[in-house]
Amino acid sequence: MSYYIGIDLGATRTKFGLLNDEFKLLRYAEFNTPEFPGKKLLIQALEKQILHLREKIKFKPKAIGIGVPGLVNPEKGLVYYLVNIPGWENVYLKRRLENSLGVPVFIDNDVNVMALAELYFGRAKGKKNVLCITLGTGVGGGLILEGKLYRGTSFSAGEVGHIPLNEEGPSCNCGGKACLERYVGNRYIVEETIEKLKKGWSSPILSDLIKNDFSQLNPEILSMALKKGDPLAEAIWQNVGRRIGIVLAGVVNLLNPEMVIIGGGVAGAGEFLFKAIRQTVKERAMRIPAEKVKIVPAKLKNDAGIIGAGILAREMLKGGKR
Ligand SMILES: [Zn+2]
Repeated sequence: MSYYIGIDLGATRTKFGLLNDEFKLLRYAEFNTPEFPGKKLLIQALEKQILHLREKIKFKPKAIGIGVPGLVNPEKGLVYYLVNIPGWENVYLKRRLENSLGVPVFIDNDVNVMALAELYFGRAKGKKNVLCITLGTGVGGGLILEGKLYRGTSFSAGEVGHIPLNEEGPSCNCGGKACLERYVGNRYIVEETIEKLKKGWSSPILSDLIKNDFSQLNPEILSMALKKGDPLAEAIWQNVGRRIGIVLAGVVNLLNPEMVIIGGGVAGAGEFLFKAIRQTVKERAMRIPAEKVKIVPAKLKNDAGIIGAGILAREMLKGGKR
């Protein structure tokens, strides 16, 4: 029996899984990432937790895979930077951990890792050309082309969140302007809602849910209000769906994918959001690719990052990427 450790490093929580060679989760552990500020403390916390998981098995794990929320070079095992986790510029994470743990370590972007999990065990199983998107604080993307993860020339392919939606618009963290993420990232959805509430939009259900306290607003509450038929929540989610749909129309024309898989918190708005996205893609993309593409919610939920990281570890090991 061989084992892998899959790690889903997130800005809020870091999750660990001990997996067998069929990627069944045998042990699970997690910690709150902000408890370990700065790279030194966080790397130590990773090492400690990995060693703890290893105690449970007789043999060394064959490899460790880590999905990280940021831009990485998977071949060098280098983290260029992490979004929302400060102090992580140009860290050779692979080398650091391999030196201290004596096990091969592989890293990749978290959405690429999620795309691998969907390819092996989720909606993308048996599919060749798929785009995976996660909606949340940021908007991430992972691309599967001809059955394989496509990383691009410098490993940044699939960044759907940073496709510009307009010619002019608000500045984005990436250095660009008017990016999709700048309109449909969690924070911006909330900002738009507050703006409309201040302008006097009717919103009886939402106002009741938040008791006029704007700090209570978040995408989950907005989804709740949507399900109860709040008109402002409907308008907001309609906008989110239309904006995602416009960008996807471009992606569908460019890549002609079989499927677009959408996961993450915002996807909690469910069928209403998906309907708005599908409708926009149908209206805005070329007819034949638009008819072909299926736009569906992700199948794998919380464990996708861990399982995908385990798959990454095995694939990179097999590919001789040492
Ligand atoms: Zn951007």
